[in-house]
Amino acid sequence: MYSMAASHARGKRADDNIFAANGRAIALAERIGKENVINGTVGSLLDDEGNLVVYKGVQEAYKNLLPKEFAAYAPISGYEKFKKYALEQCFGKYLPSGYVGVCAIPGGSGALRQVAYNYAEFGDEVLITDWHWTAYDGFIKVAGCKVRTFSLLNEEGAFNEHDFEKHVYEMLEKQDRIVIILNGIANNPTGYSMTYKEWEKVINILKKATSGNGKRAIIEADVAYMDYAGSFDETRKFFKVFDKLPKNILFICAYSLSKSFTMYGQRAGAMIAVSSEKSVIDEFMAALQFSSRATWSNCNSSGMNILVHICENKKLLESIEEERKIYVAKLNERAKVFTKEADSLGLKYVPYVAGFFITVPVERSAEICQTLEKENIFLVPMKNGVRLAVCSISKTKMKGLATKLVDTMRLLGIKQ
Ligand code: PLP
Repeated sequence: MYSMAASHARGKRADDNIFAANGRAIALAERIGKENVINGTVGSLLDDEGNLVVYKGVQEAYKNLLPKEFAAYAPISGYEKFKKYALEQCFGKYLPSGYVGVCAIPGGSGALRQVAYNYAEFGDEVLITDWHWTAYDGFIKVAGCKVRTFSLLNEEGAFNEHDFEKHVYEMLEKQDRIVIILNGIANNPTGYSMTYKEWEKVINILKKATSGNGKRAIIEADVAYMDYAGSFDETRKFFKVFDKLPKNILFICAYSLSKSFTMYGQRAGAMIAVSSEKSVIDEFMAALQFSSRATWSNCNSSGMNILVHICENKKLLESIEEERKIYVAKLNERAKVFTKEADSLGLKYVPYVAGFFITVPVERSAEICQTLEKENIFLVPMKNGVRLAVCSISKTKMKGLATKLVDTMRLLGIKQ
């Protein structure tokens, strides 16, 4: 192949297998009818008829935007009102103490890319969990860094603090700093949620590993699915473990409106930093504005102003919270159908607590998914498992899915 791309861009592709499988499922549904296809691929909330859910309050806020609210250039770091409301929505009453910086970001993706670019040295490793959203690899690599993983879970199915600690110490032997991204609430792809105590262990390990040796730690919590993991207050309590951090530990939160407000395509979110040192936050704002300007310039005005409209209208916000509750319950019901059936068949799945996905740990996942596609079932092959989107499979279609998986594995001679 004759190539024109620079060496660092050569051979890179982003035709991700999730969107590809989703494309095939949609095309088939158009031919044979939605009711005959199970599309468990993409991470958007679908109702029981397979339609994209867009909260009514969000639709209302969108329709009421004034021309200047959707057409004007926004400030690089975001509108002040947006930043205020994003902070409130992200943390509720559990904002960790310290100096705070907020920068608008095009969805959580922006904050994932920016943490690697601005806080990890080129060539350094960035630590993430073995079970992770596949896009993480790209965010880290495009920032000139390498991916390193630790086991999210131990044999008992709880957070693997020992493996985390081992990797932190090993990395700090050869690096002056460590950047960690933890999608610890309603994790994609597993649905695992870390407990308060597990978050506390993480921070205690980091404090110990960076104490008195001049090392630095940057920990980013990816909370994209937080609003589907329990009540508003319950899901935010863990933020308190980041209270009063020493100045060499920086806490960053990747807050996204994509799932919380069903605003995926609006590309809205905030990257929020908390530090006990004012200069660290001043530097965060300056570095973020510079690298945002140099990457996507400013964020989508509509996305930000929708949140402003919602938060300035108590009734609208409450209506969204009520509608969200209905879908949290729906996710639980759908997941229960699958896990109950899986339990009865002895099919193992990674401990699911909440969220959009369940993962069945198994080898040869691509073969399993290809075979299931012949029966009009579309799931996502991961490196060590098959991911199914609870967010997009109705309760009715969920019935029998575990059986189909078991049958397919048996047919292919695959054991867990
Ligand atoms: N984090 C995780 C784990 C995700 O799965 C996603 C989206 O699928 C995101 C972050 C970010 O999404 P967005 O950029 O739309 O906010």
